[in-house]
Amino acid sequence: MAHTITIEYTTKKKQQPHVNQLGFGKYFTDHMFIMDYDTEKGWYDPRIVPYQPILMDPASKVFHYGQTVFEGLKAYKTADERILLFRPDKNMKRLNKSNDRLSIPAIDEELALEALKQLILTDQDWIPEAVGTSLYVRPFVIATESCLGVAPSRQYKFMIILSPVGSYYAEGINPVSIHVESEYVRAVAGGVGNAKTAGNYAAGLKAQEGATDLGYAQVLWLDGVHRKYIEEVGSMNVFFRINDTVVTPMINGSILEGITRATVIELLQHWNIPVEERRISIEELVEAQHNGSLKEAFGTGTAAVISPIGSLHYQDEKLVLGDGITGELSKKIYDAVTGIQNGVLPDTYGWTI
Ligand code: PMP
Repeated sequence: MAHTITIEYTTKKKQQPHVNQLGFGKYFTDHMFIMDYDTEKGWYDPRIVPYQPILMDPASKVFHYGQTVFEGLKAYKTADERILLFRPDKNMKRLNKSNDRLSIPAIDEELALEALKQLILTDQDWIPEAVGTSLYVRPFVIATESCLGVAPSRQYKFMIILSPVGSYYAEGINPVSIHVESEYVRAVAGGVGNAKTAGNYAAGLKAQEGATDLGYAQVLWLDGVHRKYIEEVGSMNVFFRINDTVVTPMINGSILEGITRATVIELLQHWNIPVEERRISIEELVEAQHNGSLKEAFGTGTAAVISPIGSLHYQDEKLVLGDGITGELSKKIYDAVTGIQNGVLPDTYGWTI
């Protein structure tokens, strides 16, 4: 590795929040990682420093044109005090895929992973240990050149911050109701939907707000061209069990290639449960629900791992799935994935480090 990561320790450790206060992404640890880029030097000066605000010029390109990408993963502390990361190499690969789409220079994936590990070790006393809790890891890149010309920035910062997060399912894993969004779309193929970049999330807020006002937990996104093929649910990938086959939208250029999605597909294949990656129309789901073959639906993502869907509301149709409790397969997948992530189950797949 070409760079050494320097560490400046904080002299003022923060008071840590109580586990019941955690929630999601509200508290940050004592240190952060930062590395700079400019066109002459490339990426330089990787360092761990006390967590602190950064000074930005108001003309920084990220503020105006949204040239930025991020990642999200979790570190878990096991009962025997090991620290586990779940497939972090895939996050670093995806970070560079997003970088490429946003015209941001690639980052050495090995260095980024090393930085992530060193930062977590530095703040390891912040990893919560209660069941379901974890340390959320947020790597991100921002364009920092102060220039209003619409062109790729000549300067960037790559940073990693850490946030202890509570159990997503403090009240148990329960199915949620979903609004099928017919007005707004999240992304289209050829755009940036398959990159983890800020604009996708900003573009989704309006629909999410509308769904919340109507009493739904999330939106189900349809494709932007035909307005009928299923894309994602909130910021999760989505799966349906139709009779004994599991289907999920194929990678099409507008959906994010989730790491949990890949994991679920691999698990199902390992269990010899038929799984198909293909186009799924909303009409197909309506039809499957009417004829009784739509058995389960769930979202997949780092935050919740598995989020069961209890009902889908599409125009005047209310599609109720199962009997209001988490489906058998959803539960089985949830237990398998979280068991490996927490180190409760043996990792026969080599997914954790
Ligand atoms: N889709 C979107 C839009 C997301 O933001 C995420 C969360 N990263 C996912 C899907 C799920 O991806 P993963 O399983 O890698 O968390």
